[in-house]
Amino acid sequence: MTRKLLFFIADGMGDYPLQELEGRTPMEAAETPNMDRLASLGTLGLCRSIPRGMDAGSDIANMSLLGFNPAKYHTGRGPIEAAAQGLACENTDLIYRLNLCTVSEFSAQGVMLDHSGGHISGEDGAFLIQRLQEKLRIDGMVISPGFQYRHLLIQKDGTLGLENDLDISPPHDLINKHLDRDLARFDRSRSLSNLVYQGARLLRDMDNPTRVNAVWPWGQGKPLALPDYQKHFGYRGAVVSAVDLIKGLGRAAGMTVPDIPGATGLLNTDYQAKCETARELLEKNDFLYLHLEAPDECGHTGNIKDKIEAIRRFDHLILGPLLESVEKYRAGCLIGCDHLTPIVKQTHTHDPVPFLFYDPLRPNRSGASEFSEQTAKEASLLIDPGHDLLPCLFQKMKAVS
Ligand SMILES: [Zn+2]
Repeated sequence: MTRKLLFFIADGMGDYPLQELEGRTPMEAAETPNMDRLASLGTLGLCRSIPRGMDAGSDIANMSLLGFNPAKYHTGRGPIEAAAQGLACENTDLIYRLNLCTVSEFSAQGVMLDHSGGHISGEDGAFLIQRLQEKLRIDGMVISPGFQYRHLLIQKDGTLGLENDLDISPPHDLINKHLDRDLARFDRSRSLSNLVYQGARLLRDMDNPTRVNAVWPWGQGKPLALPDYQKHFGYRGAVVSAVDLIKGLGRAAGMTVPDIPGATGLLNTDYQAKCETARELLEKNDFLYLHLEAPDECGHTGNIKDKIEAIRRFDHLILGPLLESVEKYRAGCLIGCDHLTPIVKQTHTHDPVPFLFYDPLRPNRSGASEFSEQTAKEASLLIDPGHDLLPCLFQKMKAVS
């Protein structure tokens, strides 16, 4: 029988030492009795979840941690979100993420003010995108509505065109930066330049109560094709997450990925609902990937207090309750983060990420007093490439069943 494995991801949890915390990191400052106890009984190490030369995105990092080589499988952010929505696509479709955003003016002199159009509501987002769907008529381009400011754009036969290779900046990386470089790229494609300029005009002229005044297509790629998780790894897998990117990876690999009402991706997420869903999924699955978004959000906003609280809740409200399942099933337990989102950077970094592995059938007396960036580094174990981590542990667990 396959032994179960639970993988807990606190998105962006890793950080750098902070002056405000007397040289400690948020992981070190947070009260985390569960992680610290497991650190003393487990194996610690670092894992290169972002391959050299690739973007430090959550999509790439989580793909690695799930055991898939991003250099081989990653095609873009749009395709993963399409997989999350279960959107049927042709192999030659080019799938973009389409943001509703706010710019100072839609010209080379303009700057990106807000990648989310002021975090518009689901209702406002649906209203605007429906208007754009009705009025924007561009050959071969189809808008697929998503939620709030996040939508998708499908370009028919787009993988055959020059758009496939256009390197467009993600709008969240352009905040307060000029649009000139990216507008020059849109201008190389008639379809894309029509879309973005017409989009800005329509949003200006329509009855529009929001701050949204531009559309921004980016993260394009051909449809995501991941191997079936069970066939590839021999583990029947399930994913618990509030975030489309993570759900899309799971769904593309044929894993069970329920939508969880109350899972918000924020500090106020419904922890109990996530734990209950996890327990149910564990009855029928051998591998559970549980992802918590909040620490990353706090890293992006640079809020130290909230980040510490997000890590504390991860320990108390997720790990605490679910460690009972780890013991009940004698399951392997892996804890980590997909990338660092340091407070001082307010964005993701390429640093290797700390991880902690605990096997109740083979406790390890590591001597570590806590789980932190520093204790993981001191363990002198680096998994590189990062997509080797999980297959390695699956093997290790087989040896002790
Ligand atoms: Zn992330």
